[in-house]
Amino acid sequence: PPQEAFSRSARYHDSFLIAPDDALMFAQKNTTANGLPEIAVSPAEGKLLHLVACSIGAKRILEIGTLGGYSSIWFGRAVGEGGEVVTCELNAKHVQVARENIVKAGLGNVVKVVEGSAIESLAKMESGDAPFDLVFIDADKENNLPYFLEAKRLTRKGAVIIVDNTVREGQVADLSNTAAPHVGTRKLLAHLKEDTEVSATTISTIGERMWDGFTYILKF
Ligand code: SAM
Repeated sequence: PPQEAFSRSARYHDSFLIAPDDALMFAQKNTTANGLPEIAVSPAEGKLLHLVACSIGAKRILEIGTLGGYSSIWFGRAVGEGGEVVTCELNAKHVQVARENIVKAGLGNVVKVVEGSAIESLAKMESGDAPFDLVFIDADKENNLPYFLEAKRLTRKGAVIIVDNTVREGQVADLSNTAAPHVGTRKLLAHLKEDTEVSATTISTIGERMWDGFTYILKF
């Protein structure tokens, strides 16, 4: 079916399952108005992330790649009283817009935006006695494997690690396409095959924009 059919289907399902939300709509509009790219997760994906967080009772969530804070807000709504979301973002303008959107959502005390290269920010974090319950990896795909390794280091047993955009219209599986983001995701998949401390699966999704997917990883 044409893309329009997928868009119509998404709108139809969302109309039953995802209540209009002023803060999330503000975040989408403010992100676009500030000229940031339209690459946030869709409402349905945002809600899935929220539901996963609720399902595992996540109180501490790490996100790599904030953009305008759209997915951060979904996570912030999941962690509840005393919970925390730490989200890493390189681009200063994105950080500024995300902070605006997060404060507007009433989550200024829940979602902490860490500005800088995520690799450097993560290296400074200690798993200590407050490990994360859930990690969402959604930044520069070249670094998917290093991000996963840091996510593993910083999480508790039973944590969930979700890596976005691991399908990309099948291009990740097309080895003749050597674009750096795809190579980065292939390195992650090759690692996951051998890593006996996790179990993972990739789910394809058809959203309003394109055929893509995410990889869902459980840490034993
Ligand atoms: N998770 C967001 C959402 O769904 O609302 C979307 C994140 S967007 C797809 C990816 C973000 O990662 C961009 O804002 C980009 O600036 C950021 N990014 C890219 N490279 C990065 C790096 N090395 N460190 C931290 N953030 C990075």
